[in-house]
Amino acid sequence: MSLEKGYYDFSEFLSKHFPYKVQKISINAGFTCPNRDGSKGTGGCTYCNNQTFNPDYCKPVMSVAEQLEKGTAFFARKYPQMKYLAYFQAYTNTYGELQHLKSLYEEALQVEDVVGIVIGTRPDCMPDELLDYLAELNRKAFVLVEYGVETANNETLEIINRGHTWEDAVDAVMRTKSHGIPCGVHLIIGLPGESLSEILATADAVSELPLDTVKLHQLQLIRGTRMAQQVESGELSIMRWTAE
Ligand code: SF4
Repeated sequence: MSLEKGYYDFSEFLSKHFPYKVQKISINAGFTCPNRDGSKGTGGCTYCNNQTFNPDYCKPVMSVAEQLEKGTAFFARKYPQMKYLAYFQAYTNTYGELQHLKSLYEEALQVEDVVGIVIGTRPDCMPDELLDYLAELNRKAFVLVEYGVETANNETLEIINRGHTWEDAVDAVMRTKSHGIPCGVHLIIGLPGESLSEILATADAVSELPLDTVKLHQLQLIRGTRMAQQVESGELSIMRWTAE
């Protein structure tokens, strides 16, 4: 395995943890989000349209196990040897009572060929007692916690109504790593008000953290979201980046 391109891609990262191919299966465990229900904020992040990232098989009317069985059946037809990671993706997947969270994560791990879980959440939604439990779980199964950090720039975080700060993100990552749990962050490239210098400043700040994974999203402006309206009305502007 070489680092010619300067980073390991996700499949190379996984191959360091598993001797076989693994595939993430997205599930929607019926969570909500503290930035929508008023406990942290209302209205959500201005770019958020959660329905856009849920595949068809991923509906909260189905149990976690049912969603995973459906998802794994889809891949198993083509790749019978494949193993799976249950990806708790939709909304904030640590937002609930500890007992409820435990039952959902453990339900996922009981599904045949599921060898680990990936938990997507907000940096301000990770209590120590949950980290204690996840550290224990991580001794028996692969666990990766992914925080939606988006940018290291607090002004931008305010503009997009994230409801947390960069300092919250640093705190969450450091506490997660101090529990020995693999940890990643998601960033969004091209947020309103950010030019190349802000984007590169985020890269520098994130590079100081002891992370296992970084996921880069390009900004997607979804029709009907508050951000789309703000850009359309001229209240905010975004830079039109090309792929290069
Ligand atoms: S934290 Fe996630 S689910 Fe909640 S409003 Fe923001 S983008 Fe949407």
